[in-house]
Amino acid sequence: MKMKIDIKVTRTLNPKQKPNVDELNFGTQFTDHMFLMDYTQGVGWHDARIVPYAPISLDPAAAVFHYAQEMFEGLKAYKTKEGKVLLFRPDKNAERTKRTNERVCIPEIDGTIFVEAIKAIVAADADWIPEKEGTSLYIRPFIIATEPFLGVRAAKEYLFIIILSPVGPYYKEGLAPTKIFVEDEYVRATAGGTGSIKIGGNYAASLKSQEKAHEKGYSQVLWLDGVERKYVEEIGTSNAFFVIDGEVVTAPLEGTILPGITRDSVIHLLKDWGIKVSEKRMTIKEVYKAYDEGRLTEVFASGTAAVISPVGELCWKDRKIVINKNAIGNLSQRIYDELSGIQLGKLKDRFGWTVEVESYNKG
Ligand SMILES: *Cc1c(COP(=O)(O)O)cnc(C)c1O
Repeated sequence: MKMKIDIKVTRTLNPKQKPNVDELNFGTQFTDHMFLMDYTQGVGWHDARIVPYAPISLDPAAAVFHYAQEMFEGLKAYKTKEGKVLLFRPDKNAERTKRTNERVCIPEIDGTIFVEAIKAIVAADADWIPEKEGTSLYIRPFIIATEPFLGVRAAKEYLFIIILSPVGPYYKEGLAPTKIFVEDEYVRATAGGTGSIKIGGNYAASLKSQEKAHEKGYSQVLWLDGVERKYVEEIGTSNAFFVIDGEVVTAPLEGTILPGITRDSVIHLLKDWGIKVSEKRMTIKEVYKAYDEGRLTEVFASGTAAVISPVGELCWKDRKIVINKNAIGNLSQRIYDELSGIQLGKLKDRFGWTVEVESYNKG
């Protein structure tokens, strides 16, 4: 395959034992190799390389440790029944990286190079992609500011890293409805802030709410808008959808929610199926009112990790509502089947969403 960048590959001499496919969980085991590329002001991005997976050494003054100048992405590689390796819309992760970098003053990475780097590391560790139904290889690209400097300004040196983790099905017993706590104390994002980009700081700020939800017996939080704490925005680290009177409603991209690639794919599919989708602001009060009137039929979240995650219960100000008798809704199931079918190469890729990692050779 023709590469846009030269990637020097140093293979490990001590391959690790592959995990048991029945015991995979999320993000605890890593493959044999990682991708690294440096940035130096005046030189640009350089020294793209694949090396054995290992700890990295950084100066304690590295800017990332002090002012959190960093970004990350998340996507997956799937192995089809025929043994092909597929990525799902990686160009969208490249585009989002561009926007994230712009906002936190990290130098731009060319989209083609970003995708080539992902293909190269996935090809290098393709034998780590689990083949069992529901499993995949999670890909985590991220960039950290490495310049040792304690002043507050954009760093002059960065490291772009891609690591890979074989992951199991998000829900061991299939699509299981979750219990969601509506957060009306802490907020995630406000317009003009960083809610629409993927940076670590957003997640550090969300941990408190997540712990609170866990203590109350809920698995995640539903975020309300940061100004009035009225409008529904996101569910944990995924986008939120509400089905009311057959219309699917999701929060608009106005700077406070993360533009999920799964969200975009869900909207595409629904429109293709002729189902009404509206990207509009909706209050949590309207959601409860629709429930009381018997018009709220499904609530679900979308994201790379679980694809679709149905919501079985919401709790807002101590009032609990059980959605669709705590069962998976028809639409949630249909979207899940279609998206995961396309990702796994089982269904026709009508939208040209999958990208094959061609340099991977089974033989
Ligand atoms: C990553 C993320 C999502 C989902 O994005 P996908 O591209 O669909 O994986 C949604 N919300 C937040 C806050 C996220 O970090």
